[in-house]
Amino acid sequence: MKLTILGCYSATPRTLNNTTSQVLEINNHMFLIDCGEGTQVQLRKHKIKFNRIKHIFISHLHGDHFFGLVGLISTFRLLTREADLHVYGPKGIKEVVILQMKLADSWTNYNLYFHELTSNDSELIFEDEKVEVYTIPLNHRVYTNGFLFKEKTGLRKLDVYAAEKAGINQAYFRKLTQGFDVVNEKGVLISNELVTKAAAKPKSYAFCSDTMYKEDIIPLIQNTDVLYHESTFLEQHRHLAKKTKHATAKEAASIAKQANIGTLLLGHYSTRYNDIGKFKDEAKQLFDNVELAEDGKSFKF
Ligand SMILES: [Zn+2]
Repeated sequence: MKLTILGCYSATPRTLNNTTSQVLEINNHMFLIDCGEGTQVQLRKHKIKFNRIKHIFISHLHGDHFFGLVGLISTFRLLTREADLHVYGPKGIKEVVILQMKLADSWTNYNLYFHELTSNDSELIFEDEKVEVYTIPLNHRVYTNGFLFKEKTGLRKLDVYAAEKAGINQAYFRKLTQGFDVVNEKGVLISNELVTKAAAKPKSYAFCSDTMYKEDIIPLIQNTDVLYHESTFLEQHRHLAKKTKHATAKEAASIAKQANIGTLLLGHYSTRYNDIGKFKDEAKQLFDNVELAEDGKSFKF
């Protein structure tokens, strides 16, 4: 998996700071997560091919998370896109996009599908052979979901030499990678573990923004490799976090610790702070493995 941060600041775009948007590359997918104003400029800057984006996940309908969406949809049309586009987001997202298109007497020349979300329970919203995506219901001023991206367990790795030596016909090789024991050419049952190795451990990524401290997401994101958790504020402004339903760096770290996360990635910083290093310092008091999201930075895991 590769995660590229296109923007990770809250509220408004500034000269050097972009609002929320990320691209997650996972098993040949290029998932766009949130689409703040200026996202398409950031995509161009980081040389991400527009036509590879087929699924866009929008957490909530605050402007700093989706004001770039109509522009991107419109640009896709100008680039004569043909591939289908799927947009997942809160109920109302279809209405807001279609109204703008309608008043401009404009429409897409590709199929545009909206998957509107209303549930307050986690649900599976995308699945193929190798990947699944679940919502993570969050607690913010408007209806908001985070998203959990999970690889499925892959096929076992076949040791061809060992399988041939054990006298197993090639016709059974696929069954072996699927974990079955098979019978060799002499009619003897061969145990799967003798000729295969376990598949690589499936990776997972959880995106949680925007939200106040919400402990009931912990079971959903337990043991996730990387958690992006918003930290709009530092503890010194805890009262503001409470009032605006955001989280502090310390609260993000507490969630990461309780959920046994591999790496905590902080972001959605308020632009009132000049030094984002303070977010890391604060989170590290509770949790060791902390990284700071920064516009343009990539993480491989
Ligand atoms: Zn928000």
